[in-house]
Amino acid sequence: MSSVVELENGAVSIAGRPILRHIDLTVRSGEFVALMGANGSGKSTLVRALTGLWPLTTGSLSLFGTPFGSFHDWQRVGFVPQRGGAASGVPASVWEVVASGRLTRRKLLRPLGRADRAAIADALDVVGLAHRARESVSSLSGGQQQRVLIARALAGEPDLFFLDEPTAGVDLPNQQVLADTLRTMSGRGATIVLVAHELGPMAPLIDRAVVMRDGRIAYDGSPLASEQVATAHLDGHHHHHHHEPDHHDHAPHVSSLLEGDR
Ligand code: ADP
Ligand code: MG
Repeated sequence: MSSVVELENGAVSIAGRPILRHIDLTVRSGEFVALMGANGSGKSTLVRALTGLWPLTTGSLSLFGTPFGSFHDWQRVGFVPQRGGAASGVPASVWEVVASGRLTRRKLLRPLGRADRAAIADALDVVGLAHRARESVSSLSGGQQQRVLIARALAGEPDLFFLDEPTAGVDLPNQQVLADTLRTMSGRGATIVLVAHELGPMAPLIDRAVVMRDGRIAYDGSPLASEQVATAHLDGHHHHHHHEPDHHDHAPHVSSLLEGDR
């Protein structure tokens, strides 16, 4: 499998303070990776660094096998940022927000064409919001707004998706719709990096769990059933495992890492 994301010895400092250190991360084509860890462990910073929104202090990054400095194929990359409070003060319609995700694909200085409209309609359909397309985003619930943001990323038809905590503060029925959406995306061959504190309905979709702790990768391997993450006891060990996706016996350590900073 070719690697879609490859970061070697990545580090990020913000205002002189080291936030990420010694990050080695490879995501292969078609993989569904959960990026987990306590609040403040560096998940969002890592996703920003991988999408070029925040510069790496050191390290070498390549996307789709191309060194970051020569990579221009940004339409292949979709990013759903961590949601703040309200979506925005702008009462954009659901359709407008999703259409904005199509802009990088649009032919320069041309209005949206038939292929663009079809991609927007498909994205709305995948997240189950086709019937709400004309409504204002601000009239939707938080979980539905999250689905609008995912549809916006989908409309660009990227091969690689980064989603930063799309399930945070989202009720269970909306989490289930999100899980169905991600299953569809994954089934279409997309590579997915999902930041999530708890996997919930996403658990069965995950190929690999990467757990951050204090700006480092503390675990990289087989995922756990979400119940085990929630119920397992601390065992006091924090092993540093890399690229051993078949070692199911490491599972208890994932729970201890996730619970450790609570
Ligand atoms: P997570 O997404 O895992 O909760 P973040 O990547 O948001 O973690 O944050 C990791 C650390 O970096 C935290 O200590 C946070 O305070 C710090 N940090 C993140 N962004 C900034 C910023 N723009 N300025 C200063 N510190 C930041
Ligand atoms: Mg975050």
